[in-house]
Amino acid sequence: MFSSPLDEGILARAIKDNVIQIFVHNIRDYTNNPHRTVDDYPFGGGPGMLMKPEPIFEAVQNVAIEHSLDNRTPKILMTPQGRTFNHEIAQELSGNKELVLICGRYEGVDDRVRQYLATDEISVGDYVLSGGELPAMTIIDAVSRLIPGTVGSKESIENDSFYNGNLQFPQFTRPVTYRGMEVPKVLLSGNHKDIQIWREEQSCLRTRKQRPDLID
Ligand code: SAH
Repeated sequence: MFSSPLDEGILARAIKDNVIQIFVHNIRDYTNNPHRTVDDYPFGGGPGMLMKPEPIFEAVQNVAIEHSLDNRTPKILMTPQGRTFNHEIAQELSGNKELVLICGRYEGVDDRVRQYLATDEISVGDYVLSGGELPAMTIIDAVSRLIPGTVGSKESIENDSFYNGNLQFPQFTRPVTYRGMEVPKVLLSGNHKDIQIWREEQSCLRTRKQRPDLID
């Protein structure tokens, strides 16, 4: 689930250039039983299986030793019950030298992982996915983009939606006319000041229309 997205585009290049490093650990490798079991029935009954605490604690502790992690390294549990991921959280996380992302499966994880191991809980939105891998990948991608050297130009990140609190202005490329649909004239004018003003205006209008919640 991780190898393909990490093998394409911006992330692949950042890894190749050693701007970021990603290590994937299989929780199953940290079991002490011959069947490499990581799940068990929930106490109190109910459907499905739950991830056992031991392999997750063992995995995180071993990873911490293997990578000489600082005590303060955030250990973030992927869970729909966590704080909802957004640009501010991505910024905050990008200030850390290392991050540990813990992915659940099945009905989720034994709550002692949340209580005694995780230092943070993050959700990617109010819906339930089958596993924490896609949420972790989302965080890896969004946070990596904010690390200098990952995305080609700093300006392209600063122009992105949310960076300055607004959605990005609309963008167009060739052809100038497509099936009678025109590109706004100002963008063809070559007048950088006018273009800048138009973009700021559009950015505000669009934010007000699409995401009034972002406007204070
Ligand atoms: N029964 C749990 C959901 C378990 S989903 C509940 O209702 O809260 C299985 C795993 O997928 C979770 O342990 C978590 O790691 C991951 N997951 C599912 N939805 C997620 C979301 N919105 N954000 C982050 N992780 C999520």
